[in-house]
Amino acid sequence: MKKISKLLSVTLAASLLVTGCAANGNKSKGGGGAKGANSSPDYRLTNVSFPLKEKVTLKIVTSSGLTSPKDPNDKLIFKRLEEATNLHINWINFTHDQFGEKKNLLLASGDLPDAFFNGGFSDYDLLKYAKDGVIIPVEELVEKYMPNLKAIYDKHPEYKAFATAPDGHMYSFPWIEELGSGKERIQSISDMAFINIEWLNKLGLEMPTTIEEFEKVLIAFRDQDPNGNGKKDEIPLSFIVNNGNEGPQYLFGAFGLGDNWDHTVVTNDKKVVYTRADEGYKEAMKWMYSLNQKGLIDPEAFTQDWATFVAKGKDNRFGVYFTWDKDNVTGNNDKYELMPPLKGPNGEANLARCNGFGLDRSRAVITSANQNLELTARWFDKMYEPLQSAQNNWGTYGDPNQQNIFELVDGKLKHLPLGDTAPGELRDKTSVGGPLAILDEYYGNQVTKPDDAARRLERIKKLVPYMKSDYVYPRVFLTNEESDEYTKLEALIAPYTDRKTVEWMSKGGVEKEWNDYLAELDKMGLKKFMEIKQNAFDKFYSNNK
Ligand code: CA
Repeated sequence: MKKISKLLSVTLAASLLVTGCAANGNKSKGGGGAKGANSSPDYRLTNVSFPLKEKVTLKIVTSSGLTSPKDPNDKLIFKRLEEATNLHINWINFTHDQFGEKKNLLLASGDLPDAFFNGGFSDYDLLKYAKDGVIIPVEELVEKYMPNLKAIYDKHPEYKAFATAPDGHMYSFPWIEELGSGKERIQSISDMAFINIEWLNKLGLEMPTTIEEFEKVLIAFRDQDPNGNGKKDEIPLSFIVNNGNEGPQYLFGAFGLGDNWDHTVVTNDKKVVYTRADEGYKEAMKWMYSLNQKGLIDPEAFTQDWATFVAKGKDNRFGVYFTWDKDNVTGNNDKYELMPPLKGPNGEANLARCNGFGLDRSRAVITSANQNLELTARWFDKMYEPLQSAQNNWGTYGDPNQQNIFELVDGKLKHLPLGDTAPGELRDKTSVGGPLAILDEYYGNQVTKPDDAARRLERIKKLVPYMKSDYVYPRVFLTNEESDEYTKLEALIAPYTDRKTVEWMSKGGVEKEWNDYLAELDKMGLKKFMEIKQNAFDKFYSNNK
């Protein structure tokens, strides 16, 4: 602690030396010329409408990917925005990897910009910086100057509730990306099982539907040389242990509640349950170990990183593996197909829904140094226009200098085929992120769905019948007191259960150790941990009736 505060005070002093003078000048005279991140002078603008009669400048901190231009104004999206608004943004841009650290230094210096775009404020940060007077509540700005965002909140009260802190204020502008809803939401299942359909066909096997059939298929993959090279180089089953998208938890639902990346499921009587303390988890561990004993699991499944996993995937060495979208591992081809969830010992198949959402609470915040609140709010509101949101999220059209994500046809954005280009990379280079909303009702009207998302949504639809639970665990907003306790407990529980999961699947022992494990979790405070979750869940539902 001492070391950190010393470092901070040195940095603080240095930054005051450099920028102190300019900051003072800025505040007293409203003059420009400041080189720091300090805010803009009061332009005394009211009843703002775009384009502005005279160009003015706001200073905003943002972050972007390594392949993005250093100056965000070199992006076509921002060039067009400046033309349309006559508002110039003086960006202070950090790369994503450095943003956290640079942002903290900047906030500690007290040398505040007008706003943060792609702010990366956690719930905890929002409450802390609001309390310290660094950022301001925005609910009145939404009401008065942000008709686009207000309309979204009016039509979808769940998003208004989502954006509201436990103290009743809103401190940020959200990112909302709808792709499917309810059980068909694109985040409904993160790790899907993909099976090598060429191997199944070659060996004359059917798609497995039970855990017994599944095991027989894996054994055939192991022994019958389905890739036909005369070597025993097939990997029947691979995954990355303790990983949300590439983990094997998709299989565990055969034994009861199943499991997901945050090990939290909600039963149909609204009880929040920790999956890793459920009896079904023990059975799943036992079964996984029996597969491992038979040499059916990739020995690297317990250690490998993404690069190793993908290298084997690209070589088509997997019989069955797990990931978010097979395009990223074995390519956009017909070699692998979704494998439906398996029926377990009681003859039933179940799939635990994942608690993922296309939601980010804080994609922008306004600082207390901002003297042009109406102007800033109206500019942020433009981001919530459907065509603007779609471009900010994915990329733009009509750029003569590089590949485009869209073409603009009759005032609608149409996704272009990307060929061999990785969608993530092109999006990162040309989109701007920030606060925005893409609602299901826009698809087919203002914008088309990305092809990869459309394919994933088709797979999700096939999985819906297996999702027994009516509820997911929502994106709750904890108070900082709750959050402190939650973080402390999680730091004990997560590494312990991660470690036992690896041990039990790779070396066995779950039956012998299960009761001691439950006792250990009890000692660590699992009960309190789940109480915090349950209370937040109950509050969320009573606020969202
Ligand atoms: Ca072979």
